[in-house]
Amino acid sequence: MVNDLTKPPLRPNDAVQYVKGIGPVRAEALEEVGIRTVEDLLYYFPRRYLDRRNIALISDLKIGEQATVLARVAGQGIKGTRQRKYFQVTITDDSGTLACVWFRGIEWIQKRFRVGDRVAFHGKVEYYRHLQMVHPDFDLLEEEEDPLNTGKIVPLYPGTAGLKAKGLDSRRFRRVIHACWERLASVPDHFTPQVCRQFSLPDLTEALKQVHMPDDEEWIKRATHRLKFDEHFFLQLLMALRRRSLAALPGRKFPHLGPIVEQIYRSLPFKLTEAQVRVMREVRADFKSGRMMNRLLQGDVGSGKTVVALLAAAIVAGEQAQVAVMAPTEILAEQHFRAFQTLAAKVDLPLALLTGSTPKAERAAILDDLTAGRLMLVVGTHALFQESVAFRDLALIIVDEQHRFGVVQRGRLMEKGVYPHVLAMTATPIPRTLAITYHGDMDVSLLDEMPGNRGKVTTQVVETEQQDEIYGYMRSEMGQGRQCFVVYPVIGESVWSETPDRSETGDLSRRDPFGKAAKAGFIQLRDKVFPDFKVGYLHGRMKGPEKDAVMEAFQSREAQVLVSTTVIEVGIDVANATVMVVENAERFGLTQLHQLRGRIGRGPGGGRCFLVNRGGGEEAARRLGIMVRTSDGFEIADEDLKLRGPGELFGERQHGFAKLHMADLASDGPIIRAARQAAFDLVDEDPNMQKPENREIRRRLVHNYQHMLSHLGVS
Ligand code: ADP
Ligand code: MG
Repeated sequence: MVNDLTKPPLRPNDAVQYVKGIGPVRAEALEEVGIRTVEDLLYYFPRRYLDRRNIALISDLKIGEQATVLARVAGQGIKGTRQRKYFQVTITDDSGTLACVWFRGIEWIQKRFRVGDRVAFHGKVEYYRHLQMVHPDFDLLEEEEDPLNTGKIVPLYPGTAGLKAKGLDSRRFRRVIHACWERLASVPDHFTPQVCRQFSLPDLTEALKQVHMPDDEEWIKRATHRLKFDEHFFLQLLMALRRRSLAALPGRKFPHLGPIVEQIYRSLPFKLTEAQVRVMREVRADFKSGRMMNRLLQGDVGSGKTVVALLAAAIVAGEQAQVAVMAPTEILAEQHFRAFQTLAAKVDLPLALLTGSTPKAERAAILDDLTAGRLMLVVGTHALFQESVAFRDLALIIVDEQHRFGVVQRGRLMEKGVYPHVLAMTATPIPRTLAITYHGDMDVSLLDEMPGNRGKVTTQVVETEQQDEIYGYMRSEMGQGRQCFVVYPVIGESVWSETPDRSETGDLSRRDPFGKAAKAGFIQLRDKVFPDFKVGYLHGRMKGPEKDAVMEAFQSREAQVLVSTTVIEVGIDVANATVMVVENAERFGLTQLHQLRGRIGRGPGGGRCFLVNRGGGEEAARRLGIMVRTSDGFEIADEDLKLRGPGELFGERQHGFAKLHMADLASDGPIIRAARQAAFDLVDEDPNMQKPENREIRRRLVHNYQHMLSHLGVS
C-alpha cells in the first residue's frame, strides 16, 4: 500500500477526526460507540464477512433459511394500504428476484437505495405471494468490492441507528479504515516477536490490517486468533496480577485444628470422603501458609461442601476469630444455618442467622454479640456486608454460590480494608475456561466424590401426554413413604441473576404465565390428583414465616408433595425425596436442571427425575437428552456453555465485568490456556512490567483496564 505523502502520517492515538472521511459530526457519532482515536477505530471489528462462498443465488433460496444474497436494486416503493404501509425493494441477481420488505422505519429506509445499487442482503427467507425477506440486514457495496467479481472478502460492520444516521454504514467504515491504513504505518505491538513466535501469533499491525481487509479466509482466522488471544491475555494478566498481590498480603495463620474441630469430628455421623479429606488438607495448607486464602471449592450438589465449610470455620473459631457465611438467598442462608446447627449441635460454637427477616430485637442482639466477639459464626445474605455490621475480628468469609460474588465484590470488601481468608463454594460446575476467566485468581479445590450413601437417579424426558404415568409413579413412591418435588419455571426470575429474590419485590404474577401455571398445577394436584396426600406450595413471593411453614411441613414429611417455582433450586435438602418432576423443562438451562435433580436421590434408594417437555419440540428434546445421558456436572456445564453462552451462567454484572469483543468463552478454550500461560509467565518474570519490551503491555493494561485494576485492588 502506498502511503499518502501529502499528509502527515497518522498515529494510533490521534483523534479519529483526522482520518479522511470523518469530520466533527461523524466523530461525534463514533464517540457514542466508544471510538475516539484511530486505534479505537481499528478495534471496531467486523461483525461478519461477505465472501463468495456464503452468498446464495436467489434461485437457490430455501424458505425458512437464513441467507445472504448479493443483488442489484431493480425497483422500490411504498406499498400496502393506508393502515398497513410497507416499503419494498425488489432486487435481482442473475438467477431471480426477491422482495425485501420493511414495515417500520420506512421514512429512513426509503432514502437508502437507488435503482442500480449493489447491495448485500441478509435475512430469513420467507414466502408471502413471492419470495421475500422482512427487515433484512443490508450493506451497500462499492462496485469494485463486488466479491463475486473480485473474489474479495468484504467485512460488514456492526451498526447503530446513530452511526447510520451519520452515514456510517459498512461501506463507509470500509472506506474510512482503508484511508486510515494509508497514513498509518504500524501499531506498536505489545508482544515481542519472540512471544509472537512462541504462541504462533501474527504481529499486531498485520492482525489489525487483516481483520479489516483480509487477503483470504486463512488470514481472517489468523487475525481473529491474535485478537482473541490479546483479549484473553489482558484478562489473564489481571488475574495474574491479582493473584500476586493477594499472595503478597499477609494472611493470618491458623496452624492448629483446635478443640472445636475435634468435637465436630467426634460427633459426625459419617466418615469424611477422601475428597473431603483432601480439600481439608488444601484449606489447612492455606491457613498455615501465612498468605491469604482465596479458594474456590467446587462440588456437585450433595458432594458434602457444608461439612468442609463448617470444619474450616471451626479452625478459625477455635482461635477466637470470627467467620461470616454468605448465601445468595434467604432460603439458602436458613438452610446453611440449620445444617451448621445440626452438625455443630454438640459443639461449643456460638452461631447465629442474620437476614432481612430477623426480628429487630434479635438483630440488635446479634450485632452486639458480633461486635463484642461473643458470636463466632454468622450466616446471612449480602446484607451481612452491605450494612454496617461490625465484627470484632472477622478472619474468614465463606461464600456460597460463588458466581454471584465475583472478583469485583471481593475487591470491594478489600477496599473496605477487610482482609479475611475467602473460601468460596459453588455447586455450579464451572467449565474450566470460564473458571479461569472469571475466577482465574483463585485456587480451586474439587469435591469430586459423592458420599457413598447415595442411590442412582434416573432421568427421563417425557411429553405432556405421559402425565398420568408420572402421577402413577409418584403415588406408588408416596405409598412407600417417599416424597416428591414438582417444579415450575418462573419467567423473569433467573436463578443466575444478581438479585435472585426479585420476585419477592415485584409482582410478576400478571406478566408471568408460569407463575400462574405453578399455582394452577398446585391446585390441580392438591384437589384432583392427590386429594389423599398433603401437597405444599412454595413460591418466590412468599414471605419468611409463610415460606418456613411450607418447608417445615415438607421436611418433617407432613407434606408428601412440594410444588414450587425454581426457589428450591439451590435450596432444600430432603433425603427422603425420590421424585422430581420438572414442568416445562425446556425453559430451564441444563445446569439449572442438574442442580434441581441434585435435590433428589440423596438417600440410598436413588430417585427418578421426569423432565416434562411441553412444546419445546425436538430441539428441546435433544437438549434435554443430555440430562438423560450424563450426570457429570462439568459435562453438563460445558454443553450449557456451548448452547447458551456465558451470559446465562453468570449474573449480568459478572458478565459485564469483562467486555469481550472478539473472545468467545465457549470455544476459546485452547486460546485461553495459552493466553493464561503467557500472562502468568510475564508476571513471574517482570511483575511490574518495567522491562522495555513489556512497557507497551503495561501501557495498554492501564489504558484499557483501569476500572478493573482498581476493582481488583491491583495497582
Ligand atoms: P452440598 O452442600 O455439597 O450440596 P451437603 O453438604 O449439603 O452437600 O451434603 C449433602 C448430604 O450429604 C448432607 O445430608 C450431608 O450430611 C451428607 N454428607 C456430607 N458428607 C458426607 C459423608 N462423608 N458421608 C456421608 N454423608 C455425608
Ligand atoms: Mg450446600
